[in-house]
Amino acid sequence: MGAANPFKVSVTRLSKTPGSVLQVDVEGEIPEMFVSSAWVPEGATVHAKGQLEAVHSGILFSGTATVEVTSECRRCLGRTTAPMQVEIRELFESDFKEEEGDTYPVEGDFVDFTEMLRDAVVLALPAAPLCSEECKGLCQVCGANLNETDCGHRGGGDIDPRFRILDQLR
Ligand SMILES: [Zn+2]
Ligand SMILES: [Zn+2]
Repeated sequence: MGAANPFKVSVTRLSKTPGSVLQVDVEGEIPEMFVSSAWVPEGATVHAKGQLEAVHSGILFSGTATVEVTSECRRCLGRTTAPMQVEIRELFESDFKEEEGDTYPVEGDFVDFTEMLRDAVVLALPAAPLCSEECKGLCQVCGANLNETDCGHRGGGDIDPRFRILDQLR
């Protein structure tokens, strides 16, 4: 990441009076966000938009994060990239305690969205993606993509690729 962190948001313009709000619209890269079959492509930016609100214990962010996500279909292994939007409502605490784990720190005159966005995006990534509900998957005999071709073998559907290897050994 470059010298300036776009997600480090100044809160000097936000009054400490509970109920005060500050609109936020920031965008930048957060590297290495992935689960096994879905990830944010390298170079894609996360766009966070919403508002910061002063509350008694700190500053509450409510808004959305929008990001491109590439996912690998669990049946046909085809890759698709599409935008994903995540709703976020998280608290930055003035009196932050690391071990409690479900809030983020107010750092003097700043809040840093990076970890909050990373947590929200990674949690929202699909664990077992499908390119479509109707995906026919790969043929367990020859490995053909049954969405694209009818190889004439029976079966298909939601097949674990390991079964194909077993079949080749037989
Ligand atoms: Zn598929
Ligand atoms: Zn086949």
